[in-house]
Amino acid sequence: MWQAEIRVDLDAIRDNVATLRAATTAEVMAVVKADGYGHGMVPSARAALAGGATWLGVAALGEALELRRAGLTAPVLAWLHSPGLPLHEGVEAGIDLNAGSLGQLDELTAAARRAGRTARVHLKIDTGLARGGATPADWPALVEAAAKAQADQDLEIVGVWSHFVRSDEPGHETTDHQLAVFAEGLAVAERFGIEPRYRHIANSAATLTRPDAHYDLVRPGVAIYGLSPLPGPQPAGLRPAMTARARITMTKRVPQGQGVSYGHAYHTARETTLALLPLGYGDGVPRHASNAGPVLLGGKVRTIAGRVCMDQIVLDCGDDPVQAGDVATLFGPGTGGEPTATDWAEAIGTINYEIVTRFGGTRVPRVYDGTAGVGEVAR
Ligand SMILES: *Cc1c(COP(=O)(O)O)cnc(C)c1O
Repeated sequence: MWQAEIRVDLDAIRDNVATLRAATTAEVMAVVKADGYGHGMVPSARAALAGGATWLGVAALGEALELRRAGLTAPVLAWLHSPGLPLHEGVEAGIDLNAGSLGQLDELTAAARRAGRTARVHLKIDTGLARGGATPADWPALVEAAAKAQADQDLEIVGVWSHFVRSDEPGHETTDHQLAVFAEGLAVAERFGIEPRYRHIANSAATLTRPDAHYDLVRPGVAIYGLSPLPGPQPAGLRPAMTARARITMTKRVPQGQGVSYGHAYHTARETTLALLPLGYGDGVPRHASNAGPVLLGGKVRTIAGRVCMDQIVLDCGDDPVQAGDVATLFGPGTGGEPTATDWAEAIGTINYEIVTRFGGTRVPRVYDGTAGVGEVAR
């Protein structure tokens, strides 16, 4: 018997990757950072590989090492490291690492020497996001230093890459501008003799809308979990993989005017049945969903009554015959009348990425449906 659970459909992840794979000539890097956007990093990675992904992408070195410890041998790129990390462990594990500054390049060179092995490097150019990567002004110096380190056999330049600012706004001129800066960055690299096997810039949104940005490798994250980064209808061939649900703990009749939950931020409009649900912000329900988050219970979508607590939320069910033990669904694929993570995001003013990622903790048991990638260890 379960009280609250996160169900993850591994076959959906496999099929979503297969859908993306079929729509491009590029290879697919499945982005599984942040515990696979809350879906579980290792099972999601295996399901994505079963769907045709040939690369895995993560932010942190620790995430990449965890994939290796799980026995996954596919190429992995880790792109976010502050100084002082044991990068040589990444080099020893055959993990591809990012360099977006001369300092990072130096660290990778030192890590390669310590590991006694060439480091696999992706050079990042900042085409406008102003996060990681070298600005176009700093790019020639980075490329020149990288070419020298490659000649010294400390590094192998496997990739040149960048990341979009507003690809979730199809047709936005910023995307065209970034693609032009990227093309110029590649031309500069070529002048220094760097012709990487992998040029990559497309996230989910650009994978779905900009075939001209696919280059050699696309890096979808949210789309492999079946969620769309774009406004408008759900893209064909993608189905959400995560369902969050719980069983009602108890119900009670209360009079009209009853204040509900901390601060009495909700009052009943009439005599009614309240249902208590054992999920709260300690499990991933955003506190901003107070008086806003939608939940399917007893065939109706209801709005959370009052504040979200650490462990619990309350639903106002009127005279509907809801009972302890009934299943309430916060979000899922949407095929059974339940809200989706996208509906949740719209209701509380965030993005579907954040909704699913918040449920990545260990407090609520995660249960896997489907068999995609299960038992698949080495590839
Ligand atoms: C998270 C991330 C992605 C995936 O982005 P989605 O919008 O989820 O597809 C790709 N590349 C980088 C560098 C990222 O940080």
